[in-house]
Amino acid sequence: MDVTLVSALSDLLEPLHAAIYRCVGEPGQERWLTRARLSQGDAVASADSVWIQSEKLPALDEFPGRVDCMRSRQVLQQHQDDHWLTLFPIATDRSVVGVIEISTREQLSPGGLKQVSSILRIYHNFQGLLDYSERDTLTGLLNRKTFDESFLKAMGDMPMHRDESAQDGRRHEEVHPRYYLGLIDIDHFKAVNDRFGHLIGDEVLLLLSRLMRNSFRFHDLLYRFGGEEFVVLMRCEDANDAAQAFERLRTNTGSYAFPQVGHVTISVGFTEVRPGDSPAAAFERADKAVYFAKSNGRDQVRDHADLLRVGALKEVEQVSDVELF
Ligand code: GH3
Ligand code: MG
Ligand code: MG
Repeated sequence: MDVTLVSALSDLLEPLHAAIYRCVGEPGQERWLTRARLSQGDAVASADSVWIQSEKLPALDEFPGRVDCMRSRQVLQQHQDDHWLTLFPIATDRSVVGVIEISTREQLSPGGLKQVSSILRIYHNFQGLLDYSERDTLTGLLNRKTFDESFLKAMGDMPMHRDESAQDGRRHEEVHPRYYLGLIDIDHFKAVNDRFGHLIGDEVLLLLSRLMRNSFRFHDLLYRFGGEEFVVLMRCEDANDAAQAFERLRTNTGSYAFPQVGHVTISVGFTEVRPGDSPAAAFERADKAVYFAKSNGRDQVRDHADLLRVGALKEVEQVSDVELF
C-alpha cells in the first residue's frame, strides 16, 4: 500500500523522490522508519525491513521538518539548497503516524498540492478498510488471518540451515535473525467473565493488549487469535532475550490493577521458529508449552525447547501439510 502510494506520487509529479516515513518506537525514543521511498530513476521502491533494530534508524530530531509537520498537522514546504521539500502529515483516526515527503526542483504548485491531498484522502480511507480487515476490533491488534503471511515472511529472512554461516568464514560476522513465537493465555479467564460479566472481561482483554504493546518492541507482531488467546511473533537475539520479554509482560500483567477485577495472571508458552517450520507446527509447540504452564501452576513462561531438554515434553513427528490432504 505504501509502495503503491509513492509510485502514484512519482508518476503524477515526477519528483526527485517521494517517500513515506513512519514514526515508530516508545515515547521519547521514537525513530523514523522508511516505509517506502522512490527516487528518480529507481525501478522499485526501497523500504526498511519491519524487523530492523530500532537503533539503526535515524532519531526523530535528525529531521526536525518532519517533526514540525507531524506536530502542526499541516503541509510544510521547505527550500533546501537546490530543491524543495514538501511534507504532508499522515493521520489515522487517532493520531499522526508519519509523513509523506516529496522532493522537487521547483516549489510544488497549488494544483500539485491539491492533487497530493486528494490522493492522501483515498489512502486514508483505504488504510481504514485495511485495518478493518486485518485487525481485531476490540483490541486493534492484528487478527489471525494475517498471521500465516507474516510468519512466512519472517521465514524468508532465515537461512535454511542455521550452522551454514558458521562454516563459512566470510559470513561469520553476519548475525542471522531468530524468531520466536509466543502464545499468551489468560489464567482462569472464564471465572472473570462469570464473576464480573463479559463487558468487564472484554475490558481486561483490551487492557492486556495495551500491556502487550508496552512490553514488546515496535517491530514485534502482536495478534489476538480470538477469545483470550494472544500471539506474539518476535525477533530476538536468543531464547533468553525472548524469555525476558515474555517475563516482562507476565510481571507487568500480574502487577497491574484491572478495574473491578483486580489482579489477573497469564501463562505463556514460546518456541523458536525453526528453518522450514510451518505456522501450524510452530504454533503447536508454543501451545504445548502453554499447556505445560497451565498444568504446573499457571502464571509462568515456558520455553518449548527447555521442556524438551528436561524431558517434560516429547518432540512430535511433524506431519507435513501435504500429507494431511
Ligand atoms: P485457563 O487458566 O485454563 O486458561 O482457564 P480459562 O478459564 O481462562 O480457560 P478457558 O479456555 O476454559 O476459558 C476461556 C474463557 O474465555 C471462555 C470464555 O468465557 C472467555 N472468552 C472467550 N472469548 C471472549 C471474549 O471475546 N470476551 C470475553 N469477555 N470473554 C471471552
Ligand atoms: Mg484459552
Ligand atoms: Mg485461559
